[in-house]
Amino acid sequence: MKKEINIVWLKRDIRSQDHQPLYEAEQAAIPYVIIYCFEPNLISYPDVSLRHLRFIYHSILDLNKSLEVFGRKVIVFHNDAIRVFQYLNTLNFKIATIFSYQESGTEITWQRDKEISTYLKGQRIEWREYQKNGVIRGIRNRQGWDKYWYTTMSMPVLRNNYTKQTILQFENPFPLNDDFEAELLQYPEYFQPAGEIYAWKYLNSFVEKRGKDYHRFISKPRESRTSCTRLSPYLAFGNLSIRQAVRFIKSHPNFSFNKRAFTGAITRMKWHDHFIQKFEVECAYEKRCINKGYELLERKINSGHLIKWKTGQTGFPLVDACMRCLHTTGWINFRMRAMVVSFLCHHLDQDWRTGAYHLAKLFLDYEPGIHYPQIQMQAGTTGVNIIRIYNPLKQSKDHDPKGIFIKKWVPELQNVPEQFIHEPNNMTTLDESFCGVKIGVDYPRPIINLSEAGKKASLKIWGHRKNELVRLEKNRIVKTHVRPNSRKK
Ligand SMILES: Cc1cc2nc3c(=O)[nH]c(=O)nc-3n(C[C@H](O)[C@H](O)[C@H](O)COP(=O)(O)OP(=O)(O)OC[C@H]3O[C@@H](n4cnc5c(N)ncnc54)[C@H](O)[C@@H]3O)c2cc1C
Repeated sequence: MKKEINIVWLKRDIRSQDHQPLYEAEQAAIPYVIIYCFEPNLISYPDVSLRHLRFIYHSILDLNKSLEVFGRKVIVFHNDAIRVFQYLNTLNFKIATIFSYQESGTEITWQRDKEISTYLKGQRIEWREYQKNGVIRGIRNRQGWDKYWYTTMSMPVLRNNYTKQTILQFENPFPLNDDFEAELLQYPEYFQPAGEIYAWKYLNSFVEKRGKDYHRFISKPRESRTSCTRLSPYLAFGNLSIRQAVRFIKSHPNFSFNKRAFTGAITRMKWHDHFIQKFEVECAYEKRCINKGYELLERKINSGHLIKWKTGQTGFPLVDACMRCLHTTGWINFRMRAMVVSFLCHHLDQDWRTGAYHLAKLFLDYEPGIHYPQIQMQAGTTGVNIIRIYNPLKQSKDHDPKGIFIKKWVPELQNVPEQFIHEPNNMTTLDESFCGVKIGVDYPRPIINLSEAGKKASLKIWGHRKNELVRLEKNRIVKTHVRPNSRKK
């Protein structure tokens, strides 16, 4: 008779603690292997970039360090998960159960999961999927969601204990090839380091000292880099669970001294699940407007403007600084994300889909469930939220008054005096010669007339709210995604 084994399939949950699939595999008391699949079908999708794969790989290496003493390690395959399961099923073991978390991903991950589910059923292999964070599968509306979230967060974190196990020997026909692995091993120093150990370092430093000014600096492009939690990539790839973060912050002795700041961070962790819950219910939001009525809004692609937006060459210093900073570091704060999307969709009058994958690739913390609903909120295509058109000039003066952030990321403007840093285009030739920069040559002139574009955008997007389909859709969206206590009477 074949020896029985179980499999723990890691996806966006690369950690050793508060991990239910690993916990259940230990409880089952039969040998198990832990696997991760770099799936060509998924990694060639337009939302994935090398920075994400590097973060994942380094998270796995970090996890392996914790597992080493138990004789365990994550087995990494470079093939689609279905092929990996088919292969594992040919070995001299009988696969009893596959343990994993539910994934609230893009449509391609749902299709993958459906294919795997059909295959496993046919092979009489059980697949147990567990709820991830506070996101509930199969709900039709938000009745009771808030209460359930708080209940989930108040439950103790799972303490994972590991037994020693001799490594189950089998050949891996789908290893990472040497070139790919060499690429993954390189890790640019500007990115937040990956893995559970660093996740806890960031969490600790937030509660110990960085977080006290969280609420004051949250919208500042420079200061927020230190005062925000910076947990997003760790939460996105599951180096940390939401519950671990929430409980740690809440129970820390510094909580009572920093109530406003820390409560603000916890509220956003609830938003994390709230947004992913929307996507769990309707992953089509990756590709179509949340409010179908906005599909009728006409927007002509302007590829010249798009390239300038993507490369940080719009002539609006704060927008350009943000885009360039993202290229190098993979992170900007919420307000700046909202501003660059608002600029793209409103001032440049471009469809949100023209920038969605580009930003997904740049964000080290790319999380589909937050990303697409947030982009659509900023683009004004939900039809339920207040539409905010962020004026990049005002944002610049309010949140980077001395232009320190701008000068770091747009070095051409290094010597531009404070009075012109937000609008270098206003300099005279004499001013330009004083600071050694020629606008239109060294740094672009603004690609649009800001105030005209802002007015036009406002009329267009607000005007479209009166559309019949937009109004009909609004009712559907409120019923499905809005928590009863947040609905306007
Ligand atoms: C257009 C756009 C796209 C975005 N795409 C992503 C994305 O792909 N991945 C991602 O994690 N966040 C995304 N956000 C939300 C937010 O900007 C980031 O979560 C935040 O800047 C991450 O930094 P932090 O960890 O220091 O956040 P903190 O402010 O310290 O918040 C703590 C955690 O709460 C969650 N959170 C914070 N703000 C939000 C929010 N507005 N909505 C939902 N959850 C939130 C995140 O998990 C974050 O790590 C996006 C926002 C916008 C406007």
